[in-house]
Amino acid sequence: MRKRELIFRDDDIYLTKSICSPDRYYYNFEKFKKVHHLLKGYRHSLAIIASEIDNYPLLTEFLLQNKNDFDFQIHGWNHDDYTELDNPYSEIKKAKDKIEKTFGVECTIFYAPYNHRNDKLRKACQKLKLELNEKFVSPEQFLEGKMAKTLYFHYWSDSQVDNLKKIL
Ligand SMILES: [Zn+2]
Repeated sequence: MRKRELIFRDDDIYLTKSICSPDRYYYNFEKFKKVHHLLKGYRHSLAIIASEIDNYPLLTEFLLQNKNDFDFQIHGWNHDDYTELDNPYSEIKKAKDKIEKTFGVECTIFYAPYNHRNDKLRKACQKLKLELNEKFVSPEQFLEGKMAKTLYFHYWSDSQVDNLKKIL
């Protein structure tokens, strides 16, 4: 597979609050900007947690300023296990509407949190005309020779970004 055809799925965008204290947000923002630079010319697909969007206006402003460099997709309203929700459809719809309205885009992919998937979730995605991403590898797996069109990683993980550099 040619590298330019790969989808670089950057997980947990806007989820900084849950992975570190709020004051580390700016530290992570710098890391995100480095990855943005690194992935210029590639398909940098953002897996967004929509409920957090309003908490980080600086990030939103940055994404809007560089809108053409990104592919805006859905990782959920909250970072829940969507196979355990009573109504995954309504949560995904809420996230889709928020992301589309904020960035003026149309979302086409749902990246399931924890990569947990089941038939109920598949049906909810179908109803929303969203592709549920089911085939993916991490940069580590990719370097071991495993292949998939979608490479998922986390911009705040230094080791994953180092591995990305080896792939690009
Ligand atoms: Zn995630």
